[in-house]
Amino acid sequence: MNKITIVGAGRVGETTAQFIAAKDLCREIYLMDIVEGAANGAALDIQQVDPLFDYDTRLFGGSDAKLMEGSELVIVTAGLPRKPGMSRSDLLETNINIADGIIDSVMKYAPDCLMLFVSNPVDIVTYYAWRKTGWDRNRIFGQAGVLDSSRMASFIAIETGYSTLDINTMVLGGHGDTMVPIHRYTTIAGIPILNFISREKLDEIVERTRNGGAEILSLRQNSSAYFAPAASVTEMVDAIVNDRKRILPTVSILEGEYGHEDIAIGVPSVLGRNGMENIISLDMNDEEMTLFHNSASIVNKDIDLLKQLKNL
Ligand code: NAD
Repeated sequence: MNKITIVGAGRVGETTAQFIAAKDLCREIYLMDIVEGAANGAALDIQQVDPLFDYDTRLFGGSDAKLMEGSELVIVTAGLPRKPGMSRSDLLETNINIADGIIDSVMKYAPDCLMLFVSNPVDIVTYYAWRKTGWDRNRIFGQAGVLDSSRMASFIAIETGYSTLDINTMVLGGHGDTMVPIHRYTTIAGIPILNFISREKLDEIVERTRNGGAEILSLRQNSSAYFAPAASVTEMVDAIVNDRKRILPTVSILEGEYGHEDIAIGVPSVLGRNGMENIISLDMNDEEMTLFHNSASIVNKDIDLLKQLKNL
């Protein structure tokens, strides 16, 4: 890929730029922020890591939307993060209004790109971009489940002592308290997780995963998580840029899959050079389906709010 724009040069945005550069996933990164100096400074700082970490990505920063011209992928991390005690939904109105202007700019200057959303509430922002642009759903998707799955895998590694390299997890649903970890697809070296830990312990891990973002926020107080979120975005970018056809939990627009439509929510999706290329329909049992429907109903409540807000 030649050019990627990251909108929002805050903690998640600049860390994502650094990770993408370090993996040599594209030739140029444009880091764009409403605060011009911040984006320029971050871009310069990351650029100066090039000789030390042996990569040669070119970075530039600014606040001029026109400079995103030619981007093949635009990653949106602009917007307020949560403060302690806030839910992701509390950010809805502010971050949708921020996303509004950014989506306008993308449609004007990078009309052929793919868009990857990170700003919260990510399911709603992704849905809004799809509705506003009218683009095919493969071009608009969001990051949530890669992070939630990584958090769960980390907790399992800490609990069992086994390598994260062998741990597979799959967290679906909305990015919030109702996310849906699928136990049957949670394995260590392909062996079902309940061979290693009790159901009670697994439930504790699931609960900690659900609160993974809030736990970090309550410890740090003045910053929500950004290393693992940025690494999760980078994992998705790597799948797209290298056309890997990886199956990753992705905030995707459903068109009847899992019994839902007109919604953006986390489901296993194939990521390749054309973005979100396909949704994998899992055979879920009753318990999993109930949890998924519950999660979808919470996302739908926020979509209703969005529809009122934006007269959709
Ligand atoms: P941050 O405050 O460090 O950075 C946000 C940046 O957005 C700031 O630099 C701000 O100047 C910029 N910004 C605001 N309005 C803008 C606009 N109109 N155009 C360009 N830039 C603009 O916040 P952060 O910690 O980097 O988090 C960013 C967003 O990502 C938040 O909404 C947060 O909730 C979300 N997030 C999502 C996930 C996920 O898994 N989906 C994980 C972590 C954070």
